[in-house]
Amino acid sequence: MLQIDKLNSFYGNVQAVWDVSFEVKEGEILAIIGTNGAGKTTIMQSIVGLVSKTGAVKFQGNDISDMPAHKMAELGISYVPEGRKVFPEMTVMENLVVGGYNKRSRAGRQDMISYVLDTFPRLKERLTNLAGNLSGGEQQMLAIGRGLMARPRLLLLDEPSLGIAPILSDEIFKKIVEIKKEITIVLVEQHLHHALSICDRGYVIENGRISLDGTGEALRNNRHIQSVYLGM
Ligand code: ATP
Repeated sequence: MLQIDKLNSFYGNVQAVWDVSFEVKEGEILAIIGTNGAGKTTIMQSIVGLVSKTGAVKFQGNDISDMPAHKMAELGISYVPEGRKVFPEMTVMENLVVGGYNKRSRAGRQDMISYVLDTFPRLKERLTNLAGNLSGGEQQMLAIGRGLMARPRLLLLDEPSLGIAPILSDEIFKKIVEIKKEITIVLVEQHLHHALSICDRGYVIENGRISLDGTGEALRNNRHIQSVYLGM
């Protein structure tokens, strides 16, 4: 579905990602994992054109390397950034409506609101609350919900568990598995344990490069992963 070929990413003259190539298959959860500062967010943001890059990005066979983010959204690629950037002064409902504003999603907006609220019933109880007053976990649910409002085929989720109480992040990971029934997912995560238990395949990023890849199960059983990342 999505192919990344020889991605190199730059902040000014500083290179942060080297020669990263991978493929996302329709219907899977693909995890991009690694420690703080490894380059995971940079990879995501390079895909959607927020960080300068060389290399090619293809979506369903078409080259989208230079496509602006709003055009990507129209094709069905939705990016949920880390840090849950919801609009704090808007209500939960208003945040969702804003997420459903592109050409692709406008007509089916009501159906998507129902889908999002069925997926995250907590949001249903807080529709008229200001997003800024929600807990961290609820804001993350809203950020994902807003991403879903664009009716994506591919959802790029950046660190959905960042700074969230464990009980809520467990709930969010369960929901991600539910969402996968409808939508292909790329999941960036520092919490390997969680990510590897729900992903189909994963890529490990170390110092801006892919160091390892495999199925979730193979990576969970890998000695390097166990000793460096899982503290076993
Ligand atoms: P995190 O979980 O902290 O987001 P990450 O794996 O997503 O970690 P990145 O945020 O992609 O890592 O950072 C990769 C490298 O790029 C790091 O060395 C970081 O210092 C550098 N970097 C990130 N953002 C910028 C920026 N805006 N300007 C300069 N360097 C940056």
